[in-house]
Amino acid sequence: MLKIALSHDIDRIDKSYQRITHSIKSIMKMDFKSVVFHLFSRNTYWGFDEIIHIESKYNVRSTHFFLNESIKLNLLKKPTYKLSLGRYSIYDNRIKEVILFLDKNGWEIGLHGSYNSYKNHHLLLHEKSVLEEIVGHKIIGTRQHYLNLNEETWHIQNYSNLKYDSSFGFNRTFGFKDKKISPFFPLNNDFIVFPQVIMDKPFMNDINKWQKLQTIFDESEENNGIVVINWHNNYFNEKEFPGYKKTYIRLIEEGLKRKAVFKTLGEFYKDFAPANVDLKILI
Ligand SMILES: [Zn+2]
Repeated sequence: MLKIALSHDIDRIDKSYQRITHSIKSIMKMDFKSVVFHLFSRNTYWGFDEIIHIESKYNVRSTHFFLNESIKLNLLKKPTYKLSLGRYSIYDNRIKEVILFLDKNGWEIGLHGSYNSYKNHHLLLHEKSVLEEIVGHKIIGTRQHYLNLNEETWHIQNYSNLKYDSSFGFNRTFGFKDKKISPFFPLNNDFIVFPQVIMDKPFMNDINKWQKLQTIFDESEENNGIVVINWHNNYFNEKEFPGYKKTYIRLIEEGLKRKAVFKTLGEFYKDFAPANVDLKILI
C-alpha cells in the first residue's frame, strides 16, 4: 500500500524585504506591472487558507512545522541577513490562531527546529516547550530548518523527547537519500526518522518529475516506505509562484489515483512505533 505524508515547513508568513528586491528585479526587466504587484503584495506568503482549502477538499491532513528563529540581524555577518530578516514571531497572534485551528481540526503541529538548534539541545528544548505551551499539548515531531543535521542531532532531538525527525533528505534534488526508503531507527530505540522524499522547488524544476514520481511511488510501496512531501506555505500564491499550487494539488491527485493512504507524520509514527511504546501519552 502506498503511503504519503504531506508536510509544510513554515519559514515565512509575510513577504517583507522581498517586496523591494523583487521590485528591483522587475524594474531591471522593465516589467512595471510586476513592480506594482511586488510592492503591494505583503500577504502572498501566508498560504494557510489555500492549504486548508485544498486538503479539506481531498480529505487529507498534513503536518505543519513551525519555526522559532532566534538569530538576530548582524550587519557585519551576511549569513544572518537571510536567516533573520522577514521571519515571524511564534507569539504573533495570527500564528497562534492558525496553530490552534489546525490542531483542533486534524492537522499535526510539529517543530521546525531553528537554524542552530540541530547542535544545541538547550535551544531545541526551549523551542519545543514554547510551541507546546501555545498548542497546549506535547509535540512529537520535528524537521530542522535547512535540513541541518550532524551526528549529534538525532541524539539531541531524542533527548528533547521528540519521537521522530524528518530532516533526512535533499535540499536541491529529490528522491531517496542514501537509498533509505523506509523509516528507520537510528538510535535503536523508539525514535524514528521519516526521510523527506520530495521538496517543492527541486521537484518543480525537474522536467521529468511526473515520470520520476511514479518510480518513487513504486519503490516506496515495495519497501514499506512513506513518501514524505514538504511544500512550504509561502508557495501557494499562483501569481507569486506560478505552478506551485497546481503541482501540489496534482501530487495529491496522483497519490489518490494509486489509492494511497494519507496521514500526518504523527499518525504514521503510531503505525511504525515499536510495540512497547505507550501511544496514549503521545498526542
Ligand atoms: Zn525552513
